[in-house]
Amino acid sequence: MKLSSILDRFAEPETLKMAKLGRELRAQGHDVIDLSLGEPDFDTPEHIKSAAKKAIDDNWSHYTPVPGFLDLREAVCNKLKRDNQLDYKPENIVVSTGAKQSLANVILALVDDDEEVIIPTPYWVTYSELVKIARGKVVEIRTTPEAKFKITPEQLEAAITPRTKAFLFSSPCNPSGSVYSKEELAGLAEVFKRHPQIAIISDEIYEYINYVGRHESIAQFSEIKDQVIIVNGMSKGFAMTGWRIGYTASVPEIAKAMEKLQGQFTSGTCSIAQKASVAGLTEDLAPTMEMSKQFTERKRRTLELVSNIPGLKCAEPDGAFYIFPDLSAYYGKKAPDGNEIKDSADLCMYILNTAHVSSVMGAAFGEPNCVRFSFANSIENIERAWARVKEALAKLS
Ligand code: PMP
Repeated sequence: MKLSSILDRFAEPETLKMAKLGRELRAQGHDVIDLSLGEPDFDTPEHIKSAAKKAIDDNWSHYTPVPGFLDLREAVCNKLKRDNQLDYKPENIVVSTGAKQSLANVILALVDDDEEVIIPTPYWVTYSELVKIARGKVVEIRTTPEAKFKITPEQLEAAITPRTKAFLFSSPCNPSGSVYSKEELAGLAEVFKRHPQIAIISDEIYEYINYVGRHESIAQFSEIKDQVIIVNGMSKGFAMTGWRIGYTASVPEIAKAMEKLQGQFTSGTCSIAQKASVAGLTEDLAPTMEMSKQFTERKRRTLELVSNIPGLKCAEPDGAFYIFPDLSAYYGKKAPDGNEIKDSADLCMYILNTAHVSSVMGAAFGEPNCVRFSFANSIENIERAWARVKEALAKLS
């Protein structure tokens, strides 16, 4: 059977591929430590689980409205007011099966053939592939570790063409951990003010995992607010990756377009997960803050452990739970078996097979000099993993 050509247009997520390889190695009896995946290792907070159990007992078992239950969309609006001082109404909100579907909805709703989507590197693996599925064109803006992987207004202006449809970024950023300050976002907003036809897709899924203070959303600048589509969800801040709840906040026109797409793809997402998310968004944020505190300690320990690894250059992440070191000093070296490490893919495979630690190659995020290592793991595993990675790297000559 010949499969559709759509499959040739995009790649499988490298993050999931590495996790799969790690699982296969583990099934062969190896002690693999997973630093590849982007998910909190904590359990979902108790009050959210209780709300889900109650939703089952209360028989919330039927199809749900395509854009989500009204009480959840109201809870999202209250959250956006409470945490971000942003005014939205339920008609602005579309709840989806994870932020990944929210991103797919936005991109498919906006991008036509050959229209350009500007994405600063490094970026989350899925961004470029969704643009390709939509037959759009990815326009990368390269950043540097010295600039903490952030773009300037001048770089943004220079990347804009008459075909630019959207700008897509995450702050806090997966994989670099960079966080844009209010002043930096204001600088970008000034550029977008001059280009009101450009949609700004702002992925804020790591909002609560921020080591430098208050989360700032680019939607706070009133002149460009209608250009912004906020993408957020329950996965990272509430340790609910498997529950699959994401949401967007946008002007109703774009919300309606996304609702139309979602109505044919998935319909409204899981009723139980939605009811649980109402509790997550409206009740106690203490468990989220406690997780964030633990990530802070893991980040500190990770940076300490990597600080004395020769040839590893690492900017301190200001948010999310990854380090994204430049390991290009090892490219061109040889492994003990004589094989050359040519690039970030070879290095990740070498680290997986030698140290039994999974990571993700920087090339998948548009930054081939780097490799992403998560610190969403226990301190004990982080320490064991980095001792092994250090030993494996020392064997390259
Ligand atoms: N955006 C970014 C930057 C992410 O890292 C992820 C998950 N790894 C997502 C979106 C998707 O999250 P969800 O689980 O809600 O689909």
